[in-house]
Amino acid sequence: MTATLLDGKALAARVRAQARETLAELGVRAGLAVVLVGDDPASRVYVRNKVRACEETGICSELHAFPADAGENEVLERVLALNRDARIHGILVQLPLPAGIDSERVLAAVSPHKDVDGFHVENLGALVAGRAKFVPCTPAGVLRLLQHGNVRIAGRHAVVIGRSTIVGKPAALLLLQRDATVTICHSKTPDLAAHARQADILVAAVGRAKLVTADMVKPGACVIDVGMNRLPDGSLAGDVDFASVKEVAGWITPVPGGVGPMTVAMLMENTVAAARESG
Ligand code: NAD
Repeated sequence: MTATLLDGKALAARVRAQARETLAELGVRAGLAVVLVGDDPASRVYVRNKVRACEETGICSELHAFPADAGENEVLERVLALNRDARIHGILVQLPLPAGIDSERVLAAVSPHKDVDGFHVENLGALVAGRAKFVPCTPAGVLRLLQHGNVRIAGRHAVVIGRSTIVGKPAALLLLQRDATVTICHSKTPDLAAHARQADILVAAVGRAKLVTADMVKPGACVIDVGMNRLPDGSLAGDVDFASVKEVAGWITPVPGGVGPMTVAMLMENTVAAARESG
């Protein structure tokens, strides 16, 4: 059996095109500010992709780059200034921030109305209550991929591996809202494989290359790979052993070209929604 590929690259292009159309219909200008501190190479790549997607979508982007030794107050002041700036509808603080900066403090400073990443506790709380204004982009992209692929969620057993605030937990909440029965596994879960094998929908968001192997997947299950791991040879690998799992699964996302481009596309959608709200 060979799984159906859930093509995030193609779907992301459609989402961006739709966001561009919505902007044109609204006749508004949308602005996204990206705050980058330090010189983490992966962060630089992510930021470049986001800025490029803004150009394609017709969103005006601004990069606010700080050196790695920037002070927390300096970054906080910039975020507060961006909150007041009427040209800016979305503010994104690229994580991780350098060790000397309290990420929670910086994220809490972003206005919840401009929090297009959905990381502010007010938006995360609203997500728990089922009425989020901005849903974190990666889990939102996971849900969009499932919906677009006509993968049934209601009544199915979803197993999410990983419990981070930005991926695992919100992904589990979104699946629960759509009536899945949800199990969350993490680093302290004994016998991960036994849980994974129960999944109709398996979401891997761990950060360990090829952690999910074919023997951990129920035949016909939908496997969503959020992981992005840089291998010693420089290539990118997901958390799922794609070559073997695709022979067992019913649906699968590739890495690259799966969840990654969807994350950026959902950021565009959130930014357009923020611009619409303000206008
Ligand atoms: P994180 O480090 O914050 O969380 C990892 C989670 O995995 C933790 O909850 C931990 O308990 C769990 N875990 C660790 N080892 C485990 C094990 N052996 N078995 C079961 N669970 C284990 O990471 P994150 O920010 O949630 O990101 C996870 C992965 O997703 C990373 O590879 C990251 O690069 C990737 N990511 C991709 C996108 C995208 O757009 N595709 C966006 C965000 C993160």
